[in-house]
Amino acid sequence: MNYNIPLFDLNYGKEERKAVLDTLRSGWISTGPKCHEFETRFAEMLNVNHAVSLSSCTGALHLSLRILGIKEDDEVITPSLTFVATVNAIRYVNAIPVFCDIRSYNDLTVDPDSLEELITPNTKAIIVMHYAGFPCDMDKIMAIAHKYNLKVLEDACHGPLSEYKGRKLGTIGDLGCFSFFSNKNISTGEGGMLVTNNRQFYEKAVILRSHGMTSLSYERFKGHNTSYDVLDLGYNYRMDDLRAALGLAQLCKLKDDLLKRAEIRKRYVEKFSAIDGLIVPFKDYQGYVSNYIFPVLLVDSTAEKRDMTRKELHEKGIQSSVHYPAVHKFSIYDKGLNLPKTEYVSDNLITLPLYSQLKKRQVDYIIDSVRGLIS
Ligand SMILES: *Cc1c(COP(=O)(O)O)cnc(C)c1O
Repeated sequence: MNYNIPLFDLNYGKEERKAVLDTLRSGWISTGPKCHEFETRFAEMLNVNHAVSLSSCTGALHLSLRILGIKEDDEVITPSLTFVATVNAIRYVNAIPVFCDIRSYNDLTVDPDSLEELITPNTKAIIVMHYAGFPCDMDKIMAIAHKYNLKVLEDACHGPLSEYKGRKLGTIGDLGCFSFFSNKNISTGEGGMLVTNNRQFYEKAVILRSHGMTSLSYERFKGHNTSYDVLDLGYNYRMDDLRAALGLAQLCKLKDDLLKRAEIRKRYVEKFSAIDGLIVPFKDYQGYVSNYIFPVLLVDSTAEKRDMTRKELHEKGIQSSVHYPAVHKFSIYDKGLNLPKTEYVSDNLITLPLYSQLKKRQVDYIIDSVRGLIS
């Protein structure tokens, strides 16, 4: 189906074309100066000591768990209401994902109280995911982590520039992971970033992203190194300079992009709050937010009713999605566990279009269409 209003649209223009062409002309297209510049700018933007560019956030999550020394039979607590990559990464290091429910229908982030009850002597780490860019309760989560001596990994894919009490998401726990997949706030096609204030973690990430080798080919090309050693079992998780150039162009647009998203969200919240059959999660949140996605939750509904509503929206040319199908219900993870709030949200949530180029009349058309279908 050809949607009149897609769920997401790239914020791309001549800046991105120029960035890629300039990089092509430079003659260096793999990991090199553009990746370095992207890392520097990203770290500055987040006010964090170190950033490592990677081929994806999935790679960033995997490296983070390796860096934290998470291994076979360790337990890692994770939300189930997240993209499956968050959980898969735990399995990559042969650790055990322990699924935690969300706080409420209004706050879709992981519930610190339930989380504490899941801790066992085998628990080694907590992964939090800042849903749509709205922060988890990091004060409570960091206090729990401190009390039980656990590491905290932030899946901040939804939240570049989002803040929690004045600190950028991704910089509060031990390590933070970002994605630059096409439909994220910053798009490079594929791509990711790992951030940390810990110098040793940073150094380990740089080694692990490139086969465990002590130097990059760009450094050898520049004559800084002529040979290398292999220190650890690493991977090829490098970003390339073409993507980093796209990322740099995107960083310049980010603040403005987030402002426009905030305006659209405001209009949605205003109108949708007046509809009885709808909950707008995070409705009253006032902090600075990336607004990666805009979810609404149907009240007293079922998965069938939700799917029907989505189908009707699609017939009106409006693309929608579901963030997310509960991970603990996927075949490879299903052990009969019940997480009532996560499951209700998975069955009854609709993600509506949100991106900076969305026009006011399109937003109003979406609002009217949803209102018509709900009442
Ligand atoms: C997009 C996303 C990922 C995966 O990112 P990739 O860069 O595609 O590997 C992981 N977690 C969350 C919450 C995401 O939204």
